[in-house]
Amino acid sequence: MLENIRIILVNTSHTGNIGSTARAMKTMGLSSLYLVNPVNEPDGQASALAAGAGDVLANAKIVDTLEEAVKDCGLVVGTSARSRTHSWPMLGPRDCGEKLVQEVEKYPVALVFGRENSGLTNEELQQCHFHMCIPANPEYSSLNLAAAVQTLCYEIRMAYLNREIYPSVEEEYPLNEDLERFYTHLETTLESTSFIRRSHPGVVMTKLRRLFNRARPESQELNILRGILASIDKSVKSTGPSQSDGVDAPMNEDALKESQE
Ligand code: SAH
Repeated sequence: MLENIRIILVNTSHTGNIGSTARAMKTMGLSSLYLVNPVNEPDGQASALAAGAGDVLANAKIVDTLEEAVKDCGLVVGTSARSRTHSWPMLGPRDCGEKLVQEVEKYPVALVFGRENSGLTNEELQQCHFHMCIPANPEYSSLNLAAAVQTLCYEIRMAYLNREIYPSVEEEYPLNEDLERFYTHLETTLESTSFIRRSHPGVVMTKLRRLFNRARPESQELNILRGILASIDKSVKSTGPSQSDGVDAPMNEDALKESQE
């Protein structure tokens, strides 16, 4: 069970933090470590700080993008020391541990940690279902990366040891790659109806991601939404794209106004 709880470090600068993360994980029974585009690959410093967790370090998977690291996950939680994440569904460390343990029986789940100097980008945070913030000292809330990993791995362990009191989830949620396919489809369809401009999809797509993320559609519901998009595509094809194929069409005025509020 715990081997399907994935710890993902994004673009880490200090290899020592990678080693300390491996140690933090192993002491709490976790073993699946992903490194997204690390600045330096694990070296002697990483091994020294991993100590007895050299196996977790040796088995770490190195991938190029966060998307690749989470595509087969059904639940992805991004972590941040900053309050910018409050516009996204939030979890505290304890709820986060419980949720990961509750859902991990269905599919791999992931906890994503950011860069030492700048955390996760907004784009990376948007690939997560929930954001998690450790409610640290408001005057200095930024923990060392591996210390943040340790705090969460401890909460995961506590939830795991108490797992019989948390019922596992009934819902069938889609994997991240299915959600991403849906967003791509949505964007293409909205371009074909000229609701959004190919050159400026940004704000509306971000708002829509937030909306669907909040609703967290189940697999069947996502299939219905894909079906609706396919029916729109069909109708656009038979009547021809509106305006100039979306390339130069102005973004829907109301949506633009709303997105700027
Ligand atoms: N200066 C960065 C913080 C980087 S700390 C920023 O402002 O975002 C490196 C990573 O440790 C963060 O990306 C996050 O994954 C984790 N982290 C540090 N403090 C945290 C906290 N209080 N709550 C949640 N995650 C935290």
